[in-house]
Amino acid sequence: MEKKEFQSESKRLLDLMINSIYTNKDIFLRELISNSSDALDKLYYRSLTDDKINVEKEDLEINLSFDKDKRLLTISDNGIGMTKEELESNLGIIAKSGSLSFKENMTKDEKIDIIGQFGVGFYSSFMVSDKITVITKSIDSKKAYQWESEGVDGYTISETKKDSIGTDIILHIKEDDEEFDYCKYLEEYELKNLVKKYSDYIRFPIKMECTHHELKDEEKHEYEDRKEIEILNSMIPIWKKNKSELKEEDYDNFYMDKFSDYDKPLKVIHSSVEGMTSYKSLLFIPSHAPYDFYTQEYEKGLALYSNGVMIMEKCGDLLPDYFSFVKGIVDSEDLSLNISRELLQESQSLKIISKNIESKIRKELETMLKDDRENYVSFFKTFGVQLKYGVYNNYGMDKDKLKDLVMFYSSKHERLITLKEYVDEMGDKQDNIYYASGSSIDKIKNLPQVEQVKDKDYDILFLTDYVDEFCITALQEYEKKKFMNVSDGGLDLDSEEEKEEVKKVNEDNSDLLKDMNKLLDEVSEVRFSNKLKTHPVCLTTKGDVSIEMQKVFDAMPNDMGIKAQTVLEVNEKHPISKKLMTLYKKKDKTEFENYTKILYSEARIIAGLPIDNPTEISKLICDVLSK
Ligand code: ADP
Repeated sequence: MEKKEFQSESKRLLDLMINSIYTNKDIFLRELISNSSDALDKLYYRSLTDDKINVEKEDLEINLSFDKDKRLLTISDNGIGMTKEELESNLGIIAKSGSLSFKENMTKDEKIDIIGQFGVGFYSSFMVSDKITVITKSIDSKKAYQWESEGVDGYTISETKKDSIGTDIILHIKEDDEEFDYCKYLEEYELKNLVKKYSDYIRFPIKMECTHHELKDEEKHEYEDRKEIEILNSMIPIWKKNKSELKEEDYDNFYMDKFSDYDKPLKVIHSSVEGMTSYKSLLFIPSHAPYDFYTQEYEKGLALYSNGVMIMEKCGDLLPDYFSFVKGIVDSEDLSLNISRELLQESQSLKIISKNIESKIRKELETMLKDDRENYVSFFKTFGVQLKYGVYNNYGMDKDKLKDLVMFYSSKHERLITLKEYVDEMGDKQDNIYYASGSSIDKIKNLPQVEQVKDKDYDILFLTDYVDEFCITALQEYEKKKFMNVSDGGLDLDSEEEKEEVKKVNEDNSDLLKDMNKLLDEVSEVRFSNKLKTHPVCLTTKGDVSIEMQKVFDAMPNDMGIKAQTVLEVNEKHPISKKLMTLYKKKDKTEFENYTKILYSEARIIAGLPIDNPTEISKLICDVLSK
């Protein structure tokens, strides 16, 4: 029989599993039960949509059995099963491993993090077993197949016999060692506990043959062991239970299991809505972004159930894009079971539910911002980009819903604040909401343009996310206060006298400025200004596109040719201005041009823009320094 190799990254992950650095080994069972439950759901759903498949819901079940002597633990289901191809693609590689980069010499925490990111899954069984056999027969196949693996070396797939549709997962449990008693997974009592703890809500019965130690003869003190099949779980889906029955831990366990997260959720929103359309929903805001959140593969959506039966694993229509990080479940009796997915999208009930859910999440976030700021800030640091994106997406259609949920870093408070907080603190003299953007807080702090605004004691919003300026451009204003970029050439904080003074300097030197501009054809204007206190030069912009926005456009794969209109501003009070004027008067053309080039390069460096001719500039600087 041919032995196949695991994909190399899967191998390394397996290696981590086998050497089980993950402390909570118990979870392997909930992962397998959860897979079985999904397989049962899939089969039942198929039976509803395909007349040729007849399945009674009552017959669907999961069975646990164990053999202590042979050290075998078996998890069986009569779900949809797997074809040979599915076995290969589902268990041959770890589906998500391609998106993961393994580092050499990972710390223990990083390893645990990696395992967590995978949602552990089927492979977690290698934490407790040294050999795994999967015997499965798919509803779509006449033949049954066996998959077997002892870990990193690879796996084999061969044909086998199996009468009924479904899957048996047979684990050969590891020998006990100094660190761990693996034999506990071969104990009735332990298994019962684990199912109760992690898989109680599974809607299909999880059955196991249990031993009842019964008193047979009271006088003689004789006992008898009687075997009986028991259902280990209560089978009531957690979202159908009353809030009062549930503890935080129940929600957390359910969330971690269902959505394969190793961390508890940041927020749980459990609601039951009665009305034209009735439904129950259980929503979670994760405490960190899923590993694939910012990739194309990430699919938003909530699991959709119709009276306890899953119709769709991820119904995207239930969530707007800006809340795509929300995970959860919606269960409604008003949705017909055998409705096709296309018709479902058109369903009025679904539209009502999705509208309600959107506003529910929004209200919960508003409350969190008001009452639990620390958690909100943590949430915002993780998913804020999504909200800001929501502000400008769809031509700003949703901006009013989101504008009070976005936060920006305040130069005065040195932390995130809301726009409302900014505006409430504005004095009478201040007309605009000032902002500055750059790649980091520190870099923005040192921008020459920031100094002048700070001097007036105005707060400045520091924008470091690439979406920030687009968000602000879409908002245009907040409570009638316009946003103003401190790097905008039109920034006007001067008194009338100051303005007159600069105007004169510019007029008197118009030829000099024109010649500088001729040399720097990229900039739309060169001018003297008094907005720079200590710095010699800076780059500002005219029009709607700022330098930071241009950087975002430049980074896009399809160059749209959108360019910022830049202005080189030279500090009129800085000695360098006098120097320029002197050189110009002396008609020292080369020297004047060299100074111009160096100054422009400085301005570009400060703005975080690349220099096209670094070697030339470096030489010019050294020439000047050597004089
Ligand atoms: P996940 O469940 O997160 O997708 P797993 O590694 O646990 O990842 O499982 C991989 C895939 O193998 C599942 O998505 C499913 O298609 C298939 N699978 C696992 N267990 C079963 C089962 N008992 N019956 C049918 N298919 C299964």
